[in-house]
Amino acid sequence: MGPHMTDIKALSERLSILSQGRTSAAKVRDATLTLVLDVGGLSREERLVMVEALEKEARAAPGISEVRIAQTEEKHSITIIAVASGKGGVGKSTVSANLAVALAQLGVRVGLVDADIYGPSQPRLLASEGRRPETEGKQIIPIHGAGNIPMLSMGHLVEPGQAIAWRGPMAANALGQLVDGKWDNVDVLIVDMPPGTGDIQLSMVQKHKPAGVVIVSTPQDLALIDATRAVNLFEQAAVPMIGLVENMAGYLCPHCGEPSDPFGTGGAEAAAKSMGMAFLGRIPLSIDIRKASDAGQPPAAGKDAEAEPFMAIARRVSDWLQSQT
Ligand code: ADP
Repeated sequence: MGPHMTDIKALSERLSILSQGRTSAAKVRDATLTLVLDVGGLSREERLVMVEALEKEARAAPGISEVRIAQTEEKHSITIIAVASGKGGVGKSTVSANLAVALAQLGVRVGLVDADIYGPSQPRLLASEGRRPETEGKQIIPIHGAGNIPMLSMGHLVEPGQAIAWRGPMAANALGQLVDGKWDNVDVLIVDMPPGTGDIQLSMVQKHKPAGVVIVSTPQDLALIDATRAVNLFEQAAVPMIGLVENMAGYLCPHCGEPSDPFGTGGAEAAAKSMGMAFLGRIPLSIDIRKASDAGQPPAAGKDAEAEPFMAIARRVSDWLQSQT
């Protein structure tokens, strides 16, 4: 190996470290260094800073007078986690919002899409009601909601109730726009699915290919039967099950804090087991959770006891994410 080769190898290693592994194909010819830089997921500012640092480092190397950096944008791959339920009102949106907030607290770069386009509730849950996202080219730029979570919801795009009249293709198209928004710096996208097993769910599963799904159910048997239908939809589409969350499990007395279980305990966990699914945790029925949620203050963002069940679920989801890489 000649001295020239050694130089370029060492330089290319330094450039790789400087760029956090984003550079490749460094070559020197006629005192000109060419290299490829993957700028996917970087903001304009970050990109400028990085290019400048690379140019400076390369120019300081002996024998290099010119630097040409080809910037490419490898499609930043986002891991989609769908949160689904067999029917409405089981707290799927509440779980989605708080799962996003709790994952962010664990250091996951997380965003949230409200795919419940006929009844979007994320703007209220994450205090971004009435805000309108901007666009860059064809992409919608997410809004930052409570807990600084980047998010997009149909509720940000249309007046309340307007989407109700939409037919399947229009709704699916709208959902696509949310999922394909400008999710720079987001690695994991939580998608709050509409309840049930209709066209939007199918389109979501087929077009956007979630890496996994979290099913939310209440302890009542009926909801579990519905949950089974939701499970089947994802299983048929070969979307891996992350696990089941039991919401409104037991009642925490607001006066004495004593838990009670009007629907019995352990049903959802047993059901998860019988379906071969992981059980991710249970969230009690608590007036404080409802009040904080209605006020746009996700309980997972707080320091109160209400945060803990959501954090425990997020830890399990985070473990699952790590087991995927
Ligand atoms: P879904 O998305 O399944 O329709 P939501 O998340 O919108 O359900 O929840 C329905 C209602 O139940 C909301 O008013 C919400 O605040 C309330 N809720 C959800 N989970 C809990 C809980 N664990 N304790 C108390 N209220 C809850």
